[in-house]
This record gives sequence, C-alpha cells and structure tokens, in this order.
Amino acid sequence: MLDRFGRKITYLRMSVTEQCNLRCRYCMPADSACDVSCRGMADDMNGCFLKNGESCSAGECTGIGSGFLTQDEMITAVRAAASLGISKVRITGGEPLVRNDIIRICDRTTAVEGVDEVCITTNGLILTKYAEELSRAGVKHINVSLDTLEKDRYAYMTRSEAFGPETVLEGIEAALAAGFEKVKINTVLINGFNTDEIEDLAELTRKYPVDLRFIELMPMIKGAFGPEAYISADEVIKRLKNLEKAPDDGVARMFRLPGAKGGIGLISPVSAHFCAECNRLRLTADGRLKPCLHSKEEYSVKGLDEAGMRARMEEAILAKPEKHPKLAFDSLSEAGRSMNRIGG
Ligand code: SAM
Ligand code: SF4
Repeated sequence: MLDRFGRKITYLRMSVTEQCNLRCRYCMPADSACDVSCRGMADDMNGCFLKNGESCSAGECTGIGSGFLTQDEMITAVRAAASLGISKVRITGGEPLVRNDIIRICDRTTAVEGVDEVCITTNGLILTKYAEELSRAGVKHINVSLDTLEKDRYAYMTRSEAFGPETVLEGIEAALAAGFEKVKINTVLINGFNTDEIEDLAELTRKYPVDLRFIELMPMIKGAFGPEAYISADEVIKRLKNLEKAPDDGVARMFRLPGAKGGIGLISPVSAHFCAECNRLRLTADGRLKPCLHSKEEYSVKGLDEAGMRARMEEAILAKPEKHPKLAFDSLSEAGRSMNRIGG
C-alpha cells in the first residue's frame, strides 16, 4: 500500500515482547522492568516484565499480561499486513528470544502468504540455544546487537554483570553455523564509550562473514545521555581510513575493509534521517501501530479481527508523516515510549 507521500509500505517491525534480559542505558530506564528477571534462562520464562512493583519468582510466570497481543493476534496482524502488501517482517522487542514460544511465532510468521522475508533482531545472549531452530523456522536474516568487546563496558551499558561480549560472540558463531542468509552486527555509537573500539569492532568483519553496522545513538530516554554522547556515523569513516565503498543496503551506507569477509555499514538516523525512503510500519507488543518511530501517534489493533486490523493498518499507513522533527539531544524523540516498548 502507498502512503500519502507515495511511499510503498512493505516492511513491518513487530515487537513480540517488552521484556529483556538486559537493561541497556540508551534503550530503557533502569526501573522499568522486573528486578527478579530470570534473564531469559528459565525454561518457561514468558512474562516476568512486571510493573507496579509486583514481583514474581522465576518459573512461575503466568504469561504475557492481558494488555499484550497474544500469539494468535500477532499472526492475525501479520496476515492483515501481508494483505496490504507487506512482504518483510522483522521480529524484535524487547528481547524476542526471552519468549518461550518464539520459534512458534517465527514458524507461523514465515508461513503467512505474501511474507517472503522474516528477520529477527536479538541481543544474542541466548542465541546459541535458538540459532538452529530459528533458521529451520525460515528466519533468513539475523541482526545481533553488540556495542563493545570489553566486559566491564558491556556490564556498564547493559546494567548486567551476568553476561559479557563473549556470550554474544558465541551467539554470532552459532548463527553463522546455523546457515542464515545474512548475519549482521548492530553497534550503537556512543561517544566516550566505544569510539576507541571502532577499529577493533570493524575487525570482526575480517574474522566473520558478517556486516557490522554502526548506528547513531538516538535520544530516546530522558536523562540517559547528553549531547556529548552523540557522535555522527561519519566519525567511523575518519577512523577507518582504508575503507572501500560498497553498494548501499537499505538505509545503511556500506563500505568494506580491504580483504574483509563482511561490510561496514553506517546508519545515520540523527545526522541524515531517511524519512523519504521510509517503508516501515511498527507494531508494539501491546498492540499499537506506530506510523512513525518518533511520533506519539498510535493505533490499537488489540482485540480486533483480521478485517479490523487491516482497516486500522490502512489508517496508520495513511497517517505516516512526511518526516519526523529533527532529532537532537536537547530535545528527546517524540516517540513517547522507550525503545524496548517500541521495538527497535
Ligand atoms: N533486544 C534486541 C537487541 O538489542 O538487539 C532487539 C530490540 S533492541 C530495542 C533493537 C535495536 O535497537 C538494538 O540494536 C539496539 O541497540 C537499538 N537501540 C535501542 N535504543 C537505541 C537508541 N537510543 N539509539 C539507537 N539504537 C537503539
Ligand atoms: Fe534489551 Fe535490546 Fe533494549 Fe538492550 S537494546 S535493553 S538488549 S531491548
């Protein structure tokens, strides 16, 4: 379907949970999730993202709260989206792999007629457990987030002592062994935190056949970072002097280190927004369609049947703004939600 500005909307980013086994500082406030998190390791973890000071004991979760989309509703939403011409679905969160039914969700999403590409974004922590099953379920592309190779920095940024970058690298190796068409690493650039690691992170593209994409930090969380933390993706070009230009990939400007197995991508949502090419619709875990990442405007599909969801999606697509206001660190994104509650 075309929006009012002639953009063809072909891409649904569907968040399947707000929960996460990390608490990244740029993504969610420290106190927005259950403190008793079983960190994705409990066999039946499904709903420990509790609010209002409730607590749970790991393993006794009753499931996703009633305000959230059920698995059936998610698949109905994908069907409605496909009937409007959406052919690519990214499954995201929160951390999608903390859902104990994630493989079934992927299986059912890839089976929807009209959907020809299903991808997933994960922090990689429990990817060794799921990589093969995800691949068998028909997920073609996987993006793994990794901002630093230093254990202490990882603990600081994710507010988690329980895991480190080596666990994420093991997850990446498991994904490569599982035979996905494409494995990518996403790295958020944070000035003074990982700028001195740009070269080391880029070296991962020599070691592994992966594209590593540097993403500009977006101002999503009040008080998390000031303007000094923002650094333009062009800084990567300054640091990696021998980069060769490669064909661009969607919103990523692509380069390559000589002889590398994978590419280096630059994604610049702050310095050069890509609204003119925006082909996306977002669906949050609590069933809200977001026509634009950086707008408060939302359309609920919770409780609707396929026809109702389809009509609501048409409304949301027609409500897509031409562009969002310029992002700046002295004025937050107008998204009205943290990233884990939107789906990055
Ligand atoms: N938990 C999964 C993960 O971390 O990959 C999927 C959800 S996460 C919200 C998706 C992506 O959004 C991650 O690559 C994360 O780094 C990115 N992200 C979150 N907050 C961001 C921010 N403020 N600026 C830029 N990227 C952000
Ligand atoms: Fe969790 Fe991903 Fe947000 Fe980090 S970026 S807190 S891993 S949802």
